Amino acid sequence: MASRLIDWYERNYRDLPWRNTRDPYRIWLSEIILQQTRVQQGLPYYQRFVNAYPTIYALANAPQQEVLRLWQGLGYYSRARNLHACASVVVNDHDGQFPNTFEMLQKLPGIGKYTAAAIASFAFGQAVPVVDGNVYRVLARLFGETTDIGSPAAFRVFFRLARQLLDPGRPHLFNQAIMEFGALHCTPQKPLCLYCPLQQHCWAFAHEQQQALPVKEKKTKVRTRNLHYVVATSPEGKLLLRQRPAGDIWQGLFDFYLQETLDLPAPWQAAEQLEDPFVQALLLLQPQYSVSPAYRHQLTHQRLQVRFFNFRLNHQMLGSLVLPAGMAWYSAEEIHNLPKPVLIQNYLKEAGF
Ligand code: SF4
Repeated sequence: MASRLIDWYERNYRDLPWRNTRDPYRIWLSEIILQQTRVQQGLPYYQRFVNAYPTIYALANAPQQEVLRLWQGLGYYSRARNLHACASVVVNDHDGQFPNTFEMLQKLPGIGKYTAAAIASFAFGQAVPVVDGNVYRVLARLFGETTDIGSPAAFRVFFRLARQLLDPGRPHLFNQAIMEFGALHCTPQKPLCLYCPLQQHCWAFAHEQQQALPVKEKKTKVRTRNLHYVVATSPEGKLLLRQRPAGDIWQGLFDFYLQETLDLPAPWQAAEQLEDPFVQALLLLQPQYSVSPAYRHQLTHQRLQVRFFNFRLNHQMLGSLVLPAGMAWYSAEEIHNLPKPVLIQNYLKEAGF
């Protein structure tokens, strides 16, 4: 089966930049960028990072804010923070060289079993299987494996199956092959079973169970949040922003003063209804404000419903306003260079800022 997979791969693989290298730095970059991201979306980010930071030293020495700005739009910002932290650890503790084993790689920030296996096999030729979502699907169908792929046991079960199949002489090729086969051939909705080189060995094909496998039972609940952003503009056209703290979405990115409301009979409140000292102080100084249309933004486990209240302030109002901790005024140019959630970026664009 391994030989058939590799034959298939050599005839069908997509020529992607990280496939033409054994450089652990570039392989690691591509793996972190491509987690939970489609190849077409991740490709320009990979190129942007390689151009901006051709070596791990360049990445380790870059300011975190710059790294987050480059990452903007990819989501899951903890990956970008870990990317930066990992570069520092490799430079400071490992002399700029990635450790070359599956076990050692997992000790680095942001590197789990999957990424460690990818670097160990693609860069260093270690015979360890790489098990991603595509590989789960291929293995579940080939072997009729019904373990829920969202369960804690899944990785161990599928890792063992993959190790049985792995070609120990060509781990790098085998891993690329099975991942690509899942991405292009044994796809979730319409696997190309009629032209499949593994058809004779495939449990799902023999039992017509392709659609039932892999088993994924857990559905994470999506929570709805109502966000009210206060956009204060100074007479010089500066905007009031702050850097988001740890413990919530978008850590380290910049957004406006925010009030969140829960369990409302209606999702929207007027600014006057927000029981917040800063908003109330603002309204005393400037009772006139405009409200943006509703923005809706979907994250993996959260549905955001967002409105922006726009307050234009004159010099006199500004003199009497006490800013909440962490808030500061930023010019258009400064804002352009700040890392921001895509939602804020879209709003600024549509508001003509
Ligand atoms: Fe996937 Fe169909 Fe091939 Fe089985 S026969 S491995 S389900 S494409």
